[in-house]
Amino acid sequence: MRNYKFRLYPTVQQESRLQNNLNVCKWVYNKFVEKAQKSFLSRNDMNYILTELKQSEPWLYNYHSKMLQMVSTQLEGAEKANIELIRIKKHRDTPDNIKQVIVTKSKSCKWYACLTCELVKVNPPKIDFTKAVGIDVGIKSFVYDSDGYQTPNPLNLKKMLKPLVRVQRKVSRRVKGSNNRLKTIRHLQRIHEKITNKRKDFQHKLSSTYANHYDVVFVEDLQLTNMVKNHKLAQNIMDSSWGTFLQKLEYKCKLLIKVPARNTTIDCSRCGSKVPKNLAVRIHSCNKCNLVIDRDYNASINILQKGLKIFNQNKLPQELREVTPVEISMRSMKQEDNTFRCW
Ligand SMILES: [Zn+2]
Repeated sequence: MRNYKFRLYPTVQQESRLQNNLNVCKWVYNKFVEKAQKSFLSRNDMNYILTELKQSEPWLYNYHSKMLQMVSTQLEGAEKANIELIRIKKHRDTPDNIKQVIVTKSKSCKWYACLTCELVKVNPPKIDFTKAVGIDVGIKSFVYDSDGYQTPNPLNLKKMLKPLVRVQRKVSRRVKGSNNRLKTIRHLQRIHEKITNKRKDFQHKLSSTYANHYDVVFVEDLQLTNMVKNHKLAQNIMDSSWGTFLQKLEYKCKLLIKVPARNTTIDCSRCGSKVPKNLAVRIHSCNKCNLVIDRDYNASINILQKGLKIFNQNKLPQELREVTPVEISMRSMKQEDNTFRCW
């Protein structure tokens, strides 16, 4: 099963119908919340209550029963035909066997259709372990990989924070319940959405690049929850959102393997001796073998080596890595007002 999301462009009439459906779902949802406050409701209970509700509120029969059963602020466009009516921006092809359609409305009043499609089983792809890469995710560089390429952290939120704070302040100055306040809130929601979209776009582009160039990607098995406890880091972590990046990477790559994070920053990737360093130290400098490289680069090579070991593949010695021509085309990735080299 796989989900595809498309933007919808309903006509005024269609939109009012969608909005009406959404309102009914909310109404039913609130009824459930009301009942659930008294006792726990199972799914069966809710379906039973729904049947009762329909008897007392016969107008509910006008709505598709499956839609009502989904009970959430999302609506189920139960008849797929409904969607084919509405103008839809299909930016990609989907398999024909659509199992479910969920229509949602974003905070800035855009409509989307999320299609759940069943994928036909394909043979597992052949894995070429010479096309393996280790990647280290971090604060300074969003990604540093074992081939020596780094992608800076876009830090979208920081850039957008100024207008966000400005509009937020504007909202608090407006009279509660006024039309102007509503307008400003919409503006604020649009900014939030823009940030989210920018981040998604960045993550999609980067994960696709890795998935296209490599057969195997090794990453650290990060304990994100532990790291977020450190408040200074929290904002950056939330912002760079590696979790969602790794998710995208996982479904795009032929193979994504998480390796234990233990000692990946401390170990010397050339000789294996321990070189302890705190977060402020950006350079890995080994006294034993004189290797001096970026700490994240060192970590990514360790991640690659750990990963290859799992599959009993030969370790690639540092010396060899340095003379092996890396067959990666140079490619620049453009991020709005922030052009950086990625490959
Ligand atoms: Zn060393």
